[in-house]
Amino acid sequence: MKTLTILKPDDWHLHLREGLVLKNIIHFTSEYFGRAVIMPNTKTPITSIDSANFYKKSILESLPEGSSFEPLMTMYLTDDTDKEELINGFKNNVFFAAKLYPANATTNSSHGVKRIENLYKIFESMEDNGMPLLIHGEVTDSDVDVFDREEVFIDRELSPIVVRFPKLKIVLEHITTSYAVDFVQQNYIGATITPHHLHINRNAMFFGGLNSDFYCLPVAKRENNRLALIKAATSGKECFFLGTDSAPHLRKWKAFCGCAGIFNSPVAIESYLTVFEEENSLDNFEKFASLNGPNFYNLPPNKEKLKIVSRPNKIAEFIDVVEEKNIVGQIKPFHSGETLKWEIDGIIN
Ligand SMILES: [Zn+2]
Repeated sequence: MKTLTILKPDDWHLHLREGLVLKNIIHFTSEYFGRAVIMPNTKTPITSIDSANFYKKSILESLPEGSSFEPLMTMYLTDDTDKEELINGFKNNVFFAAKLYPANATTNSSHGVKRIENLYKIFESMEDNGMPLLIHGEVTDSDVDVFDREEVFIDRELSPIVVRFPKLKIVLEHITTSYAVDFVQQNYIGATITPHHLHINRNAMFFGGLNSDFYCLPVAKRENNRLALIKAATSGKECFFLGTDSAPHLRKWKAFCGCAGIFNSPVAIESYLTVFEEENSLDNFEKFASLNGPNFYNLPPNKEKLKIVSRPNKIAEFIDVVEEKNIVGQIKPFHSGETLKWEIDGIIN
């Protein structure tokens, strides 16, 4: 039986939702990750210090007892973002970073930014203060093909930002294309890579009829892009790090409305490891999962260690959402019903 022991990882891109879903899912992350960057696209987006503090409090209250998990809060940028609020929140450790969603790019992003140039003054202050900018990198114009939106965003929006703000700490989130892989490396920015974009290409959404289980944004692309992402993630290169983009939707909504988002936190580590093993790159997994992120953000790595063993690991078909001991809903996890080859054994202090 193979064993792997790595420094405890962090999740640099996570959707925790709110209320009952938050309470039911947070332990999947808090048990095995030290920190997570929490996305601000809640039903009412996190656009102020007060709302971030309120959301953080609800996250901390949902944690299992004795948990040392640290949620890193982000502010949702809008056309009306108040620069003082943003920078004060950063200086006072309320906000870890700011998140840029182009308007209507993904779930709950209708408040997103309509003209990115209007934020340049804000980017200038963020650059001066060392505040990271996390970007959902897709244009949303209806005349741009959904599979081309990341590349067009890079050319049209990200390239000018990188040129104009060379010291701004930028992370291009959940990259999906070889074009993004190259851009990130050439421009000294960071990028998160999800487990699902390493496993599926766009065929998955059309297999056995329209299949919303594999619908996420940005959508998975062609196979050559998936292969480029695998090469990037498993390379150990400092600019690429773990960000699950785990985004749960209750089954009833996912199945009937096909909302974008894949819930992978119950299997994220095991899912990534499957790919690293196939690439003979298990030695680089700790860099990707536990070192490159802290290094990019100038934070110390976690001290505890995570032990993972290679043994058959049957993934549940559904995760129950429970309220006062009654099952009130279900969420389908990534790799639902599959048997993976790795399983987390526990934390070593
Ligand atoms: Zn996301």
